[in-house]
Amino acid sequence: MSKVFFSSWNGKLNDERNKNLEERMDLQDLEVPPQLDNQDLKAFIGWAGMIVVDPEVDIVVALKEYYQNMQNESCGRCIPCRAGSKVIADRLEKITSGKGSKEDLAFLKEISGLIKESSLCELGMSSPVPLLDALEYFEANFNAYLNEDRPAAGNGLVFRPMLTAPCRNGCPAHINIPRYIECIKEGDYEGALAVNREKTPLVGTLGRVCVHPCESNCNRQPFDQSLSIRLLKRFAADFGAKNGYDENYRPAKPAPDADKVAVIGAGPAGLNCAYQLAQKGYAVTIYESLPVAGGMLAVGIPSYRLPRDILNAEVGLVESLGVEIKYNTEIGVDMPMEQLWDEGFKAIFVANGLHDSATMGCKGEDAGYAGYMPGVEYLRKMNLGEKVDLGEKIAVIGGGNVAMDCARSALRLGVKEVHLIYRRSRAEMPANEAEVDAAEEEGVIFHMLANPTCILEEGSCVSGLQCIKMRLGEPDESGRRRPEPIEGSEHVLEVDTVIPAIGQVADFCYVTPECGLEVTRKGTLNVNPETMETDTPGVFAGGDVVLGAATVIEAIASANRAAEAIDNYIRTGKSGVGEQAVNEQHIEKIGVYKEELAPEMIGGRTRLEEEAMPVNERIHGFDEAELGFKYPCEVVNEAERCIKCLRLGMAIL
Ligand SMILES: Cc1cc2nc3c(=O)[nH]c(=O)nc-3n(C[C@H](O)[C@H](O)[C@H](O)COP(=O)(O)OP(=O)(O)OC[C@H]3O[C@@H](n4cnc5c(N)ncnc54)[C@H](O)[C@@H]3O)c2cc1C
Repeated sequence: MSKVFFSSWNGKLNDERNKNLEERMDLQDLEVPPQLDNQDLKAFIGWAGMIVVDPEVDIVVALKEYYQNMQNESCGRCIPCRAGSKVIADRLEKITSGKGSKEDLAFLKEISGLIKESSLCELGMSSPVPLLDALEYFEANFNAYLNEDRPAAGNGLVFRPMLTAPCRNGCPAHINIPRYIECIKEGDYEGALAVNREKTPLVGTLGRVCVHPCESNCNRQPFDQSLSIRLLKRFAADFGAKNGYDENYRPAKPAPDADKVAVIGAGPAGLNCAYQLAQKGYAVTIYESLPVAGGMLAVGIPSYRLPRDILNAEVGLVESLGVEIKYNTEIGVDMPMEQLWDEGFKAIFVANGLHDSATMGCKGEDAGYAGYMPGVEYLRKMNLGEKVDLGEKIAVIGGGNVAMDCARSALRLGVKEVHLIYRRSRAEMPANEAEVDAAEEEGVIFHMLANPTCILEEGSCVSGLQCIKMRLGEPDESGRRRPEPIEGSEHVLEVDTVIPAIGQVADFCYVTPECGLEVTRKGTLNVNPETMETDTPGVFAGGDVVLGAATVIEAIASANRAAEAIDNYIRTGKSGVGEQAVNEQHIEKIGVYKEELAPEMIGGRTRLEEEAMPVNERIHGFDEAELGFKYPCEVVNEAERCIKCLRLGMAIL
């Protein structure tokens, strides 16, 4: 385990320089993830100071690199940050080339103080911190260069800079949000789209359906409201689509002798993994059981939330990289998974999601009555254009996004009365608040604190649903108050269709005793969470089948991690964590979201909200209900609300 030589991180001094190696503190005590430790981290410098592990590391050269990177990240709106970082980098260059003097050191100290005092954003304000610490504690290292024409000792060092901010930290895929917000401020929508596409082809999709954890992490929130990050992403994607940004995009196809990778499932996880691997030069084939790609984006989420032309264009982008999608091919049914090895694939990524419905455990559920239809099955049929006859009155059971999609879609299909039954209270509903509000506005009738006990029938057709009233008891293991039935409160709702939407489970038809894959007690595939490798070498997995019912952005994050590990596996025979992933984990672990560090500012500039189609218009069809932002000027204005609480860190290996 690595030992700390010196650390000034977060203003806490750990000067171990005079101690023996064994007596020094462990690097792990500074919350450095083990992967970085294993990779011989020599030092880490950034917004909160410096951590030095290797006494021989050339601090001065590392700082020069840091300030050169700082120039690229600085937006240039305030002179101290942009010009200051250039001046510092130039002066460090002068020093490392043996032309420096004592005056240069004094100058660096002075200008660092000035930048800290007068910069307008966190990047500028935090940037001088490591230099000031180095000047105070490592003066000898600077002095060694003064008036000495010796070569810099940092030639062999590897630098991994990373821009971070609470929003980026909160995004499971670590999309470089600060950078694309900057692009939008400049009106550079193509640049904003390109930044998003470093991580995913599904930018327009995320701009519509992402649960946006970035926004709950936004540092602007305490002052007025978080930035509309999701809708800024949507604007960049839609602007790009309208202005043909992809038309000139002619990516190289994989070489004829490229290594082959198989992907099971064309949902967001499968598509993302294929997208990343194709860009690394692999020949990727996706096996998809349905006649369409997109997974739950295509057969779960209704088109009034995600228009299919947006999704299809993004699937087309993946195909344009040479990825082949073999439709109507269910692995485990049409072909055993093991056959993929015989076909020459070097690795397999499993991302088959959760496409079966969880059961409610209520009487009559497995009797096969006409009018009983699990939520995911009904949405799949509807989205594939098959006829679904729901009758006039229906009951949807559940409080999540799937239940909201079932209920809101039913109204659009012409159902007169849609009842939504949920066993807890509205405050406990897991669905997005906006979805719950929209369902209520559209006329869904909510029955909170109620639970189905029996499905009633007449001639084997559903005729009603018996429910019981519930009350909230003590919190359960999830922290939510446990619903308890109130005896004698049974009541009947007359309905033609019962749609349970209380959760999804996976179909493991491809798991055989020989394949070596382990299914956990939670009904998910067991993987190493860092590499996403399963118990079978060369088989990786991600998305809902590993995470349980999760989100699109989490599926994307897990697929990106897997793609890096698959690349490592094929190149080296070992599925190590990718460089980028290590860097991101490091930043995540150190954490930049500290409320006490939030910059001071005056609020009162509320966020821009999108327009929605009026209720009476939108419930008659499946046209997109939310309209996004319209005008570049309002979008630039919203991006300007970003308070730039970003910071730069750099690992030195
Ligand atoms: C109705 C609904 C609404 C949702 N709304 C949101 C939302 O608003 N925001 C959000 O972030 N998340 C939402 N989610 C969750 C999100 O859709 C999932 O987390 C995400 O799609 C998971 O991606 P995945 O690639 O792991 O799996 P999936 O999207 O499920 O894709 C798996 C793919 O594998 C295919 N497949 C399955 N078995 C096989 C096999 N044996 N062989 C070949 N192919 C196979 C399937 O047909 C499917 O295409 C919603 C989910 C549902 C059901």
